[in-house]
Amino acid sequence: MPAQISVTNPATGQVIADYDLATPADVDVAVDAARKVQPEWARTPPGERAAVLHRVAALLTERTEEFALAETRQCGKPIRLSREFDLPGTIDNAAFFAGAARIPQGLAAGEYSADHTSAIRREPVGVVGSIAPWNYPLNMAGWKIFPALASGNAVVIKPAEITPITTLLLADVFAAAGLPDGLLTVLVGRGRDVGEAIAGHPGIDMVSFTGSTPVGKRVAELAARGPRRVHLELGGKAPFVVFDDADLDAAIQGAVAGALINGGQDCTAATRAYVQRPLYDRFVAGVADVLDTVRMGDPEDPATDLGSLISRGHAERVHGFVRRAVEAGAQAVRGGTAPDGAFHAPTLIVGAAQDAEIVQDELFGPVLVVLPFDTDDEGLALANDTRFGLAASAWTSSVHRAGRASRELTAGCVWINDHIPIVSEMPHGGVKASGYGKDMSVYALEDYTVVKHVMSDNTAVARKAWHRTVFGG
Ligand code: NAD
Repeated sequence: MPAQISVTNPATGQVIADYDLATPADVDVAVDAARKVQPEWARTPPGERAAVLHRVAALLTERTEEFALAETRQCGKPIRLSREFDLPGTIDNAAFFAGAARIPQGLAAGEYSADHTSAIRREPVGVVGSIAPWNYPLNMAGWKIFPALASGNAVVIKPAEITPITTLLLADVFAAAGLPDGLLTVLVGRGRDVGEAIAGHPGIDMVSFTGSTPVGKRVAELAARGPRRVHLELGGKAPFVVFDDADLDAAIQGAVAGALINGGQDCTAATRAYVQRPLYDRFVAGVADVLDTVRMGDPEDPATDLGSLISRGHAERVHGFVRRAVEAGAQAVRGGTAPDGAFHAPTLIVGAAQDAEIVQDELFGPVLVVLPFDTDDEGLALANDTRFGLAASAWTSSVHRAGRASRELTAGCVWINDHIPIVSEMPHGGVKASGYGKDMSVYALEDYTVVKHVMSDNTAVARKAWHRTVFGG
């Protein structure tokens, strides 16, 4: 009997699905199947591969409600978020990669040596092993699967074992859309065995990982033994810098939305607000007022703003950060109470030290820390004082401050006067401990393809001019 895993709705504590757990032997089977069919998929014209992705986008559109409900039930996230963010984002991403993979980017072919014509071929990497997290299971699966398949690869993907449902449904949708067997396998398995088997598998040509920084390092170590190409989308601790000329109301609304989206379980969530001293008190009071209006409750109720976190254990972990911060002298202006099951109250913390764990470590919950600063130099330095570098935002009405912040904030994405929005056409990915590689955009297609240089002789002579360097004469 294979070991089983139960998927639990964190908001209710009820088991909603049971699965046999995959094993490393299943990784071998999936990789063998992928290796057999991938070469033919690579030779399939991009337009035909794109047609499959367009059908996937259409089927996801038809089945939006079913997918949204499944995502909400396995994650505890508000149904409004699933319907209006997760699903439309994934559908747009499928449609984007269907088109983008039809225009592979590269240098122009030409005679860069007088005797040769050079051309670039952009070819799939081969078999991609993907490992995904639990916070946006469908989005993350899409970000990995769409560019990889669109550019001619096969994919073996392991969703987080606690949230596999929508990734399995997505595989059904691909089958219904006509994707040949073997090109996409979903393995519901644990990280320590199936995840490690994927990361270290000799039949896998590239490992694409989204998750925490410590696990990402482990995955990179295993992949390096190949060596194999690695793409790492890791943790974040995004700063939110409010200069004294900012539109205060916009910054307050933006901070609450940016901190609470997906219960703060978002790698780009606003976690640390640095507010220039003249606005500091009004910003803290304004955020507290908006937090008072947040409706936490049943994730399936369209009126709910904040659902449960991913599990009771995770809510307790988040609360541990808050409790220790308060014990160290910080104040909880709102929230700070012990969780109720997997529900964690939205929490506003002031008075924490810059080097406190609540300011430095990714806690992945609905907690915003606010700290003051005096000069622009200090605000930017505090924002950059982190080991992460995924996302950041700056709030100002000055074009010069906006320009300086865009240049000096160390992150893969800098928003000006907003925080969170993403688009399929633009890349998502970090620097420093947030990893390397890009999801979305044509930069993802670069990651999932290999550039080959083909150099053809134009002279048709046996003894070529350059042979002189060997034969002389
Ligand atoms: P996690 O690192 O615990 O797990 C991620 C995946 O790795 C899961 O599928 C897990 O089963 C697997 N895994 C665990 N141990 C493994 C091992 N030893 N070898 C191989 N695979 C293993 O992360 P999580 O808790 O699922 O997700 C939250 C994290 O993901 C946060 O740090 C968040 O910032 C990050 N994240 C980053 C992005 C991004 O784009 N940068 C997006 C979403 C989430």
